[in-house]
Amino acid sequence: MQVPGPFEYERATSVDQAIGLMERLGSTARLVAGGHSLLPMMKLRLANFDYLIDINDLHAELGYITVEAGQVRIGAMTRHRELLESAALTEVFPIFADAETVIADPVVRNRGTLGGSLCQADPSEDLSAVCTTLNASCVIRGPQGTRVVSMEDFHRGPYETAVADGEMLLEVRIPVRPNGSSAYEKVERRAGDWAVTSAGAAVWLNDDGTIADARVGLAAVGPNTTGITPISRALRGQVPSEAAYAQAGALAAESCDPVTDQRGSAEYKRHLAGELTKRTLRRAVARINGSN
Ligand SMILES: Cc1cc2nc3c(=O)[nH]c(=O)nc-3n(C[C@H](O)[C@H](O)[C@H](O)COP(=O)(O)OP(=O)(O)OC[C@H]3O[C@@H](n4cnc5c(N)ncnc54)[C@H](O)[C@@H]3O)c2cc1C
Repeated sequence: MQVPGPFEYERATSVDQAIGLMERLGSTARLVAGGHSLLPMMKLRLANFDYLIDINDLHAELGYITVEAGQVRIGAMTRHRELLESAALTEVFPIFADAETVIADPVVRNRGTLGGSLCQADPSEDLSAVCTTLNASCVIRGPQGTRVVSMEDFHRGPYETAVADGEMLLEVRIPVRPNGSSAYEKVERRAGDWAVTSAGAAVWLNDDGTIADARVGLAAVGPNTTGITPISRALRGQVPSEAAYAQAGALAAESCDPVTDQRGSAEYKRHLAGELTKRTLRRAVARINGSN
């Protein structure tokens, strides 16, 4: 079936108006941002809603990337293309450009948004892995006010988030810490496809060159894109080395929970989780040291 069921359509003129509409219409309504996840699901009749509230006119309000001292703020309506093309964002977090280069194709990247990507909560979704790696927080607004939740609390399970009926994701906030960098790698069956497995890594070094902190986020190897906290614990205080990356890779392979599907066997995905963890950690450290 390639035609969605019938629905009413409204274009929101402000965040408050969109929230007011959703509060009134409840679970029968959905926001549509880029539409690149929602509309295919509706066409396949995997999802049916009575009302779609189009938030594309809110791009002026919610489409921004602000790099401040200690924090980057990105509006929910910021499109993939804008994330890819922002030199200021790439300077602080090159992991975004790494990931965006391998997300879908220009048609999808021109419309798809950060907010839609995180709210879709597909376990293979690349930006969720990026935001998890960077320890981002999500700013959610609803009729009762605004709240901020961590990425760990944001994703409740496959296709399920902390955003309740009547609420909206407004912004993602990412802490900026000194002497750090990041990287993302993905294995896909063909260019622009969803990940067989992907990994993001972020590393921060002390003045003596030891690892102050490190984070790894994986996609497509479990119900959620969770950070692998045992890796952070294991790497803190170590000198960056192949042995340290191998230890982290082994922890990533051990900690993930892939399933066998048309993209690959669970065993292959587990192997990739380990290998991509090693590669991204190595690349993040090389970037701090001015190479790669
Ligand atoms: C052919 C194709 C290939 C793709 N390949 C990849 C890939 O390789 N990697 C990858 O990560 N993604 C991929 N995607 C998905 C793409 O990144 C989508 O853009 C993204 O998943 C959803 O963003 P959107 O803005 O289109 O969201 P929409 O489809 O508009 O919305 C998705 C969901 O989020 C909700 N939503 C949207 N915005 C908000 C908000 N601000 N607050 C609360 N809820 C909100 C909607 O109600 C809906 O439930 C692909 C998509 C296509 C069509």
